[in-house]
Amino acid sequence: MTDLRLTDLRRAGRSAADLAADHLATVTDRPVWRPVADADRSWLTRQPLPAAGRPLADLLDDVRDRMLPYPMGNGHPRFFGWVNSPPSPAGVLVAPLAAAMNPSCAGGEHAGVLLERTAVRWLAELVGFPHPPGAGLLTSGTSMATIIALATARQRASRQQGRDVRETGLYGQPPLAVYLSTEGHSCLRKAAELLGLGSRYLRTVPVDGAYRMDPGALRRLIAADRAAGVRPMFVAASAGTVNTGAVDPLAEIAGIAREHGLWFHVDGAYGALGALAEGTGRGYAGLEQADSLALDPHKWLGVPVDAGCVLFRDPVGPRDTFSLVPPYLRQDDDGDPLGWFSEYGPEQTRPFRALRVWATIAHLGRDGISQLVRRTSQLARTLATMIEASDDFELLAPATTSVIAFRHRPTALDVDRTEALNQAIPAAVQRRGHAFLTGTRLSGRAALRACVLHPDTTEADLGVLLDEIRTAAQEIDAPTV
Ligand SMILES: *Cc1c(COP(=O)(O)O)cnc(C)c1O
Repeated sequence: MTDLRLTDLRRAGRSAADLAADHLATVTDRPVWRPVADADRSWLTRQPLPAAGRPLADLLDDVRDRMLPYPMGNGHPRFFGWVNSPPSPAGVLVAPLAAAMNPSCAGGEHAGVLLERTAVRWLAELVGFPHPPGAGLLTSGTSMATIIALATARQRASRQQGRDVRETGLYGQPPLAVYLSTEGHSCLRKAAELLGLGSRYLRTVPVDGAYRMDPGALRRLIAADRAAGVRPMFVAASAGTVNTGAVDPLAEIAGIAREHGLWFHVDGAYGALGALAEGTGRGYAGLEQADSLALDPHKWLGVPVDAGCVLFRDPVGPRDTFSLVPPYLRQDDDGDPLGWFSEYGPEQTRPFRALRVWATIAHLGRDGISQLVRRTSQLARTLATMIEASDDFELLAPATTSVIAFRHRPTALDVDRTEALNQAIPAAVQRRGHAFLTGTRLSGRAALRACVLHPDTTEADLGVLLDEIRTAAQEIDAPTV
């Protein structure tokens, strides 16, 4: 870079740092979320391609005026929607440095690749998963982690039949069945469809009253598939479902998987870190027996998006599934027996995600992370208690991690109007701007869910959330049924 361009970058970079810090510092002065004004929407979506470029500092004005006012909302302590956390300060700090270095972490000898080894090992250690060197990599999220895990299981299943699915595809094979609970995440279905397994062979296992997979039902589905000539291949248990935060009976499912030769996968995208919380942590026994574990540092840990991770018991499987080293990439003097990260998944050019993961963990330490997990889980239990103590809310599932599923139930309303009301509440609460929650369906009925992930959320915020729901409910024109 020329001196002049560097001077510009230095000056604008300082302003950008101030903008970012001010944005984080003033988050509670603004609505949690607000709709985008028409003029800004049209600016955001319809800008013409510029012929001439503009100075760096000008770009920051646009970010300040047109973008920062319209966040998704997850930086705010009263954001309870989906499973989205605020960014860790350490992650925000180092993100521009990753861009300044701009490596591709496909492989090779440089800081990005080497640090990813530590970031992945730390994640495994945090959740108590075994970590032989090379048995894991960072991904864009759990959707990609799941594709990698399922592809690896599919290759193992073909190897067991003396085939190589990479060469033959799935042609001429009996169908392979994938099991998950009715509360399992949609990314498993996407992965099964993408990998040619077919959603017809995706089995949704019923859950118990606490929304945990029913192991007896899993056994029966496996037996029925065997009898029908379908080969049971893969079972995905949840460690923290998105609807209720439920953790499936992992040890029991691990036993069934072993007995029937199934690949045992755990979706810990959101909840794997819950293993760090005293008390609830005990419910995670069996997690360490998984063949693969997906988890998202960009959820509870607060690593700025994107950062997912897939861990394996054995590094041989994913490499056998993905390694493809064209001659232009091969280097004879590559000393690392683990090879390149790009041999373990579909991505070739890979970003320096490890820097944000490393910085976040290094800043909080194991103690800080368990404190975050314990505190947010405790707040969720407090919300559950508040709901149970009220006469106009109903708790729909026990609090295991930091998601609470519930329903608003003003006494005057009948079943149909309660249903319509709960469907309408999330959008009405969001529009008011004082809190943000989202809805779901549980046992076929509309439900509200609140996920606590923000380190600055307080008990008072929980009270505001319930009051906002009450006020929004009164604002909604209760539809006549
Ligand atoms: C978020 C989430 C996913 C999907 O992960 P992405 O990072 O969004 O790709 C899968 N499973 C669970 C339980 C999740 O919370």
